[in-house]
Amino acid sequence: ATPMSITVGTGKGAAYGILIRSAEALETAHKLDAIILDKTGTITRGVPALTDVMPTGGIDEGPFLATVAAVERASEHPLATAIVTGASQRGLTLPSVAAFDSVTGQGVRATVDGHVVLVGNRRLLEANGVDVAPLLAAHDWLAGQGKTPMLVAIGDRPAGVLGVADTLKDGSAAAVAALTDRGIEVIMMTGDNRATAAAIAAQVGIRRVVAEVLPEHKAAEVRRLQAEGKIVGMVGDGINDAPALAQADVGSAIGTGTDVAIESSDITLISGALSGIVTAVDLSRATMRNIK
Ligand code: ADP
Ligand code: MG
Repeated sequence: ATPMSITVGTGKGAAYGILIRSAEALETAHKLDAIILDKTGTITRGVPALTDVMPTGGIDEGPFLATVAAVERASEHPLATAIVTGASQRGLTLPSVAAFDSVTGQGVRATVDGHVVLVGNRRLLEANGVDVAPLLAAHDWLAGQGKTPMLVAIGDRPAGVLGVADTLKDGSAAAVAALTDRGIEVIMMTGDNRATAAAIAAQVGIRRVVAEVLPEHKAAEVRRLQAEGKIVGMVGDGINDAPALAQADVGSAIGTGTDVAIESSDITLISGALSGIVTAVDLSRATMRNIK
């Protein structure tokens, strides 16, 4: 494209709330074969709320939630915020904790009243030798509704499950439909569990889902698609998404997302709405048509 048409395209993008960082991104966006969308904070609002408190070990709901919230208070993850907010809305007093530790993409751990408490996904509990069998029915029931189940172990024993639900952003389903109409395959990628991811994907009309991806493997998933000869776009918001955004042929960050994601991307969707990526594709097509 000529410098003039690029300037015009970039200017129009800004008017639509899309900051385009490189001429190359504007030239490439109309050629995308596939776009990978992160789930939490990209397709969904990323502000999950606590919906279910299900202790199994004969503990009452109040002390169970207070214990879990005490551990999550030290975490900055949106799931942790949902639990701490849920506990404070119920007026619970949180016990003090020691030896807090977090395992990225899996969960958290701390000591409460002399017992090690684990809160996280199935992988976290299994890696610590906890028998998760008594928790699986509740886990699968929550996940089937598109909620994120969090498993809890206290002193190495299964103690209960919490459910957290996120809501779709307005326009996510419409954006997926518009991309599909333009011949672009839409893929969801998330660290969340398979069943939850599948339920959310069905709600927005996405057929291909890559779930339970560890943060350090997100970029490799982009590379795998590129190795199939595809031109791949990625949209994400988190620190976890930054390497994948940099790896993609066109990386787009949600404007309300983390600075690291924004710095690693070619395009910023300022309002955070997914319709921005459709606009970017159309703008690229128009820019390239003008100069042919
Ligand atoms: P996403 O890719 O959807 O943004 P993450 O990679 O951040 O998700 O997290 C993956 C999974 O790890 C979560 O779905 C959850 O099961 C678990 N997890 C991560 N952080 C926490 C936490 N602070 N408390 C409980 N579970 C957590
Ligand atoms: Mg995210």
